[in-house]
Amino acid sequence: RTVYLNGEFLPEDEAKVSIFDRAFLMADGVYEVTSVLGGKLIDFDGHVTRLQRSLDELEMVNPLSRDEWLAIHRKLVEINGIDEGMIYLQVSRGAPGDRDFVWPDPATCPPTVVLFTQNKPGLADSPAAKKGISVISIPDIRWGRRDIKTTQLLYPSMGKMLAKKAGADDAWLVEDGLVTEGTSNNAYIVKGNQIITRQLSNDILHGITRAAVLKFAREAQMEVVERPFTIEEAQQADEAFVTSASTFVMPVVSVDGAALGDGTPGRVAARMREIYLDEMRKAAI
Ligand code: PMP
Repeated sequence: RTVYLNGEFLPEDEAKVSIFDRAFLMADGVYEVTSVLGGKLIDFDGHVTRLQRSLDELEMVNPLSRDEWLAIHRKLVEINGIDEGMIYLQVSRGAPGDRDFVWPDPATCPPTVVLFTQNKPGLADSPAAKKGISVISIPDIRWGRRDIKTTQLLYPSMGKMLAKKAGADDAWLVEDGLVTEGTSNNAYIVKGNQIITRQLSNDILHGITRAAVLKFAREAQMEVVERPFTIEEAQQADEAFVTSASTFVMPVVSVDGAALGDGTPGRVAARMREIYLDEMRKAAI
């Protein structure tokens, strides 16, 4: 696989990063994951816009323009022959040559930029989407700036492991009795014609897929209600689903062991997945 590191396209085993890199020492880096379908980028501009926001919030410099980011994404897709898969992009605050809590001067310490592809044939036609996933609830003990997409992913990773040990597929995070989001996705419940999902704030990541799905839901005459919900409310809901750039719309069929409806993917989730994939393929670049 060919990867990108600081201006160069290299074989993956030749791409080397300093041990002083602040993403390595302090998770001082931000990232994006963009899906590829039919060799094209899904919602590329959404991801570049959020990248800029994450960088701004951390007073980091965006080293590349939108068109430069696009050219790198496209070149990696082409070189690696990706038809369906993902592109991971990371920008760290660079490698100042020592360990220090104080941020280095960006003028002397340029960011480290890494991109690589993940080949995932069958990404859109996922068996999990036909079956639905099970989730358990765990406390949300992450930091207070979940709106910034940092590489600080230890707790989400622990959450997935807790789910796995419990025989479930994923975990929903609960704070003050209310669901914030999934370990790596935004969470929704469906009641009648209503799609309910937590409102945007610093408590959750502002999902790129969330924005698109809510727009398509409104266009399909669904009522979108942005408010938090409890695990109990989710267990009583008609349906539930999660969204992310790499899983699109994924139906949730059980919450803490309680089956939703008849325990199969709901109609709204299936329909939103179909609309999302159709529309985003059309708009892919
Ligand atoms: N919340 C969290 C915590 C996530 O990690 C992700 C995926 N990066 C999402 C939500 C979904 O965001 P997106 O739709 O932009 O992939």
